[in-house]
Amino acid sequence: MHSLLRQGLLRQGPLTQGLLREFSEGVIRMKPYLIERRCPAQETMCTLIAACPAGAVAYIKDEQAPLGGRIAFDYEKCDGCGKCLSACCGQAVELR
Ligand code: SF4
Ligand code: SF4
Repeated sequence: MHSLLRQGLLRQGPLTQGLLREFSEGVIRMKPYLIERRCPAQETMCTLIAACPAGAVAYIKDEQAPLGGRIAFDYEKCDGCGKCLSACCGQAVELR
């Protein structure tokens, strides 16, 4: 399963519910990564910021970013619960 995760094959596949259960039960702990081409990077519409129980997701203004900002994960706060996988409005989160 881990090799499939690394390849991103389970991100949206039929095993996602089982995967989420394993995350919620603490069986698997991985880090979330953003697929930036799928993300509109808008603070007001980002569902991840409120959904993350650890407060590990934030909008950061970035003049170098195409849309003037980006969504970022704080890996010091993130405990790898996996809730952002289903909360993302653009299916832009991948767990590795
Ligand atoms: S919910 Fe996902 S796609 Fe939507 S703005 Fe936030 S990170 Fe980007
Ligand atoms: S894996 Fe959990 S703690 Fe980490 S950013 Fe996603 S929702 Fe927050």
